[in-house]
Amino acid sequence: MKNGRSRKYRALERLRIASQAVFFGLFAYLFIGAHYTGEDYIGSTVQRFFHFDPLLALITIVSARLVYAWFAFALVTVAATVLFGRVFCGWVCPLGAVNQMSSFLFKKAKLLKPPREDKASLAPKYYILVLVLVGALLGLDLAGYLDPLSFLTRSFALAVLPSLAQALSGLGGILYGLGAAGLARSVSQLLQNWTIHTTFVQGFSAGLFFLAAIGLNARKERFWCRYLCPTGALLGLLSRWNLVKLRIDGEACIKCGLCTQHCETQAHPYPNEGWKSGECVYCLDCASRCPTGAIHFPLSARFEKATNVSNVDLSRRKLLVTTLAGLAAAPFFRLTPSRKRASLKLLRPPGSLPEDKFLAKCVKCGQCMRACPTGGLQPVLTEAGPEGIYTPKLVPKIGYCEYYCSLCTQVCPTGAIRKLTIEEKNQVKMGTAWLNKSRCIPHVLGRPCVVCEEHCPVSPKAIKLVEVATRLPDGTVAVQKAPFIDVERCIGCGICENKCPVVDDPAIFVTSVGESRSEKNRLLLDISGGSAEAPYK
Ligand code: SF4
Ligand code: SF4
Ligand code: SF4
Repeated sequence: MKNGRSRKYRALERLRIASQAVFFGLFAYLFIGAHYTGEDYIGSTVQRFFHFDPLLALITIVSARLVYAWFAFALVTVAATVLFGRVFCGWVCPLGAVNQMSSFLFKKAKLLKPPREDKASLAPKYYILVLVLVGALLGLDLAGYLDPLSFLTRSFALAVLPSLAQALSGLGGILYGLGAAGLARSVSQLLQNWTIHTTFVQGFSAGLFFLAAIGLNARKERFWCRYLCPTGALLGLLSRWNLVKLRIDGEACIKCGLCTQHCETQAHPYPNEGWKSGECVYCLDCASRCPTGAIHFPLSARFEKATNVSNVDLSRRKLLVTTLAGLAAAPFFRLTPSRKRASLKLLRPPGSLPEDKFLAKCVKCGQCMRACPTGGLQPVLTEAGPEGIYTPKLVPKIGYCEYYCSLCTQVCPTGAIRKLTIEEKNQVKMGTAWLNKSRCIPHVLGRPCVVCEEHCPVSPKAIKLVEVATRLPDGTVAVQKAPFIDVERCIGCGICENKCPVVDDPAIFVTSVGESRSEKNRLLLDISGGSAEAPYK
């Protein structure tokens, strides 16, 4: 048989691969660029990608009941999808590119074989979308867990880059061992320059989820895009009227079924009337593989008879169950005592909105954690309840909030952390420092130590020194200068806790009490029941 493969679609396919590479490269460049470079300024960051994401825009607006102006860019993606179908998935989405690349590698390694006929239901992602939407109506933001941009950014920030850093530092060690000190220094300089030496408490779980998402591509090509992605589902719904339709030239078609067998997303190009336009990501694999060049994608304003969603087996009963599950998810995700009484160690980054608004807006992308120069911002596991998993908190033992830094406030894509200048940020109180006298060196050992006072960055200092007398075991009395905290001046930056030389459990520590963003999280409970004037406003 004469090879009649379409040159035009092969060229377009190459263009699509180039487009995916460019967008993935841009994503990686902006992602790596979001770090401290010696000045308190991060230019354009990967958050720009987020503003083009219609799912994040919709869910953030619905769950937080607020319009965030940057999300106007999502209308570009909406318009492109309505006109041209899910081109975002096939040509732009960086997670789509990762899925496609890994599927390709699995295929090359013969771990993934194209099925003769694939009849698995494509409905799960639509149910996930319904779940996320119902949650958002009740103020619950679940989008960040499965939205492709949040998922990829979080995975890169918490797991991929830190693992790369571990590998590079191991390589540095080997190079030193081999006597290539110059090369080893270059490797360690690279780690410093990109600030990728931070590790995260939940990096392991984020890494496991990422590996699972990649590994699933060995089972089905672009598994995530086919079955899990709520953004893909939303774009699929928007694409039902698109102008680019698949056509098969009946005379040229030899009914070999190669197009459907190799379709990346089970859009089922053959036969033409079975094509699910809402599943098609316009990868053009079918058109470029067709041995007779029978497949075309002409512009056509004609409506499809069988529309994309009705081609997917969504059952009303399952949609109802999913809606009920969404309604049940809200109270379940809020099962936490921290809703009633603030969590001791939940120090949110400076500029964070009040807790309920923060949770409704944070998409758990981890960009703030990536940007924090001290590595102090870490993902939450339990402190904010199930709803807060992977949201950021400051862990002073690991890293403090640098006085002359406002980077986390610059990179948040949803405004869960408000943008602040340094001057504004330094007026914000994240919590308050407390002294554990039974561990403080001057108090308990009668020896000199003023480390916390020396490091306190506020002016005048929030830590004063007072003389204390300590009776020692031999009966003598040692008089030393010891810290005394001015709780009104303290901003809870945590540098004192971080630098305290009592290593395992520092003698000075910060808790969230007194944080500016909360009117309730105060040292003394307002037992007047709210009738008297709140004392700490
Ligand atoms: S389905 Fe989702 S992950 Fe896949 S390309 Fe589309 S948006 Fe990206
Ligand atoms: S927590 Fe503090 S040090 Fe870390 S990025 Fe935010 S402002 Fe900077
Ligand atoms: S607070 Fe951090 S994790 Fe949450 S959306 Fe903003 S940058 Fe992402």
